[in-house]
Amino acid sequence: MRGSVKVVRLSGIDIQIHFSWFLIFAAVTWSLATFYFPLRSHTLAAGPQWAAGSTASVLFFLSVLAHELSHAAVAKRLGYEVEGITLFILGGMASISREAERAREEFWIAVAGPLSSLALGLLFGAFWVATRNAGATFSSTGSIALWLAEMNVLLALFNLVPGYPMDGGRVLRAVVWGVSGNGWLATRVAAWVGRLFAYTLVLGGVYFLVQGAIASAVWLIAVGWFLHSTASSSYRQAAVRERLKGVAVGQAMSREYPTIAPSLTLRDAFDRILQPYHLAAVPVVTDDNSLVGVLTRSSLSAIPEMDWAVTPAARAMSQPGALETVAPEEPLGELVENLDNRKIEALPVVDGGRLVGMLTRKGVRDVLRRPIVAPTKTESS
Ligand SMILES: [Zn+2]
Repeated sequence: MRGSVKVVRLSGIDIQIHFSWFLIFAAVTWSLATFYFPLRSHTLAAGPQWAAGSTASVLFFLSVLAHELSHAAVAKRLGYEVEGITLFILGGMASISREAERAREEFWIAVAGPLSSLALGLLFGAFWVATRNAGATFSSTGSIALWLAEMNVLLALFNLVPGYPMDGGRVLRAVVWGVSGNGWLATRVAAWVGRLFAYTLVLGGVYFLVQGAIASAVWLIAVGWFLHSTASSSYRQAAVRERLKGVAVGQAMSREYPTIAPSLTLRDAFDRILQPYHLAAVPVVTDDNSLVGVLTRSSLSAIPEMDWAVTPAARAMSQPGALETVAPEEPLGELVENLDNRKIEALPVVDGGRLVGMLTRKGVRDVLRRPIVAPTKTESS
């Protein structure tokens, strides 16, 4: 997440804090110190109230971290790479490098978080009961424990809402996937319930707005909006993956893509190819169509324009070692997210050293627009 700082690395997992987290930390500490604890212990002075408030707040965010670490630990055990955990204004997020491959794995990764929150809730609850039964007066330690018990149980319950991207939504997806054997159906169901839940939160926010409870209203609408956009974007990604299942690079690449020779001057490359065809890059090939480099607009602009007429493309193109290419038989699905994330416009498709085509974003978009052809089943009579 942009705007995050790494605070610590725990068993190979980077723990990051997003700047928005400091707002929620301050808000929780403030409301505990000025409302929650004063209501429960009238005798305490402001100093101890703030001490109790910040202790409870720190322990609460450590609980959120424990929740995310549980997801991460199970994912790692199952062989998934965990990119990191980020705490931000709406809670925590563990980034796992890829989607679960099996329903059972998805289930355990998802359920681990709420289970750890429930366990922490019980633990804090037991501590609260113990301090009460010990005959202690209603100390701030007891009320910190009680609040943490409530918050952890709430965290578990909220996350178990069965709509994607909540943990409960992932559990629902895993169950539908496991029962039906259809991952795509499972994603649609979980994303649909997720959006329904998001709309419900926003509606709740509007209700609070009408009642004049501005803070609650803003909070619910923000959470609803976040959940809705996450549910929608993960649905779109799943749709693209589903759509591109079984499609190879060769089926999406363009074969009629201009190329240039290494001896062509930059002036001609720009005036005759890059500019008229509106290209960001053009492959450089020898007479037998062997790919030797790619000339991009940015590598061109690194050379003074007055020298373009006397500089051959070979001098400005990216060098073969730095050249990224794909093979025509590579599956398109995984590649697409990579192209999107890294904003790559075109990739040379190379077979045995020869350029056979260019994979462009437009080519991928065209494949996505083609009508879905159901696989034909031939039945022998
Ligand atoms: Zn979770």
